Amino acid sequence: MSTITLHNKSFVPYIKEETILKRVKELAKQIESDYKQESPICLGVLTGGYVFIADLTRKINTPVQVVFVKMSSYSGTQSVGSIDWQLSVPDLVTNKHVLVIEDIIDTGLSMQHLLLALEVKKPKSVKIATLLYKPDALQYPIKPDYVGFSIPKAFVVGYGLDYDGLGRHLPELYVLQKEVEAGKA
Ligand code: 5GP
Ligand code: MG
Repeated sequence: MSTITLHNKSFVPYIKEETILKRVKELAKQIESDYKQESPICLGVLTGGYVFIADLTRKINTPVQVVFVKMSSYSGTQSVGSIDWQLSVPDLVTNKHVLVIEDIIDTGLSMQHLLLALEVKKPKSVKIATLLYKPDALQYPIKPDYVGFSIPKAFVVGYGLDYDGLGRHLPELYVLQKEVEAGKA
């Protein structure tokens, strides 16, 4: 792993693939034991969540359904504060246990909107699994139930997360170099 350039920005290695996969496995075991016989519907949040959704659900050893929503609140490296729905919450969550699977909670705005949209469909319960969580960036009262890694307020890419369309395919996580230099990560 070494420094990479996406568009005009440099990113440095941050969390190794093996560290991520080990943590994903731990989360899956925790989810399995918490839900026991009551398999949840896994509601994956696209697009950034696609790698985490695939890896996590494949390690949960109970027959879960996997469905998706697609929303965006982000442009470049800054949150834009509004939500655009491309794929909305499916009706089949009604009266079911729902496990939301998200790549990252930053301000919490997207999750806040998703929880409101879910509420309308009256699920039996809702829990949140997020690979990454930035507690210092949080502006909405979101409490994730399963967190892969709590990280500082810095911009990361890889393992599904992009910078303007690039970087999703990288198996490990990278962080913006100038934020490391500024002591943020
Ligand atoms: P929020 O609504 O919590 O502010 O932001 C959530 C969305 O913003 C995430 O689902 C993700 O798509 C994007 N996002 C937030 N922080 C980062 C980051 O550090 N890197 C990338 N690539 N996307 C981020
Ligand atoms: Mg996301």
